[in-house]
Amino acid sequence: MLLDLDHFKNINDTFGHDIGDRLLIEVAQRIQNELRAEQILARLGGDEFAFIIDELPNIHVAQVIAQRVLATFDNLFNIQGNTIHCSASIGVSVFPLNGDNKEVLLKFADIAMYRAKNLGRNQVCIFQDNMNLDFQRKYQIELELREAISESNFELHFQPIICAKESNKVIGIETLIRWPNAVTSNNPSEFIPIAEQSRLIESLGNWIIKSALQYFEKMRTIVNYDFYIAINISSYQLLNLNIVNFISKQLSNHNISPDLLVVEITETSLLNEDIITNSVLKELHNLGVKIALDDFGTGYSSISHLLNYPIDIVKLDRTLIVAAESNTKNARLMKGINKMLKSIEVLTIAEGVENKAQLTMVQNNSVDFIQGYYYSKPLSYDDLISFVGLNN
Ligand code: C2E
Ligand code: CA
Ligand code: CA
Repeated sequence: MLLDLDHFKNINDTFGHDIGDRLLIEVAQRIQNELRAEQILARLGGDEFAFIIDELPNIHVAQVIAQRVLATFDNLFNIQGNTIHCSASIGVSVFPLNGDNKEVLLKFADIAMYRAKNLGRNQVCIFQDNMNLDFQRKYQIELELREAISESNFELHFQPIICAKESNKVIGIETLIRWPNAVTSNNPSEFIPIAEQSRLIESLGNWIIKSALQYFEKMRTIVNYDFYIAINISSYQLLNLNIVNFISKQLSNHNISPDLLVVEITETSLLNEDIITNSVLKELHNLGVKIALDDFGTGYSSISHLLNYPIDIVKLDRTLIVAAESNTKNARLMKGINKMLKSIEVLTIAEGVENKAQLTMVQNNSVDFIQGYYYSKPLSYDDLISFVGLNN
């Protein structure tokens, strides 16, 4: 079993390394109390512990023991007068079921432990074969991403966003990345999270911002009216203040007024109430850049986020649109959400509108703007130019 503390870095940052060290000692004692004297417990490094439970009658007993270890974290730690809450994630691999040597067993326990972290931490995860396939696939995609990033092997597409009242007016476009030569996965919903976890998102994200604004400058010399460009910014990119300068520099390099840029963020970026994220958003907003909250209705959909952060636009997720189409209660909810957002001067976009019935429904429920296959799928630069030409 591999045990890794959750957010140990925060504890070190908040209380100092001395307290962090003492916490590790106490953690070791708590784990030891749950083991028999002859069972092996080791600290592998940092905040990672390994222990071996032998003579298991069956795999369920492993689960029970791991849960018991985890439960010892329910009690707060008291270290030199500081009350500290700390949880852990545990990954389990089993001999001989998962492997017959220590390298393989450790690797698989590690994979299971990462799964426990990804599922929200503070839990036990027992290794399963499909996790290894998942892991290998992710690893492969990460390798391919590294190469593709160094060669800028991506393309940008743009999806028109249309005014709900004037059905032909393009009010904005959303930049969406495409990876045409991808070997393992060309789906951004799969490879973007991998780019995030492997910290590749910063260079990829910078390339996206730079190229999107380059295209935008070029299209503005051809299309002679104003619409905005939206760019998706991942929560990891908001953890570094440099992004404000980067965006500001790219805007001026390409002669683009900041109020023509919309940065799309998701609610997960706001969950940790990170001080840097907060200042990045405020500074971007002070520059004149607009902020859109993406995928609204899928996560917390928190009102305090709308009030505490400079949100100008809310994008209602496609699942809300689909739900509202089939059920009048959901449709009334959508109308209510739109009314509420209007009262605090936030504009709304209905995402993923695919057919006439959905279009009529969102128009009747006071959505401001519409995006979706009904009007257009994401388009290459050339196709976008003809789309905009035809529509205006
Ligand atoms: P998102 O930001 O919510 O983007 C909207 C997604 O919905 C896009 O998928 C778009 O192609 C799809 N879509 C648009 N209209 C419709 C419709 O009518 N019906 C349906 N079923 N889908 C529609 P895509 O391009 O596959 O991107 C998926 C996600 O990947 C995005 O969700 C976003 O979270 C992420 N992503 C894409 N491009 C970028 C990027 O440049 N940077 C970052 N950080 N994330 C990106
Ligand atoms: Ca988006
Ligand atoms: Ca979205």
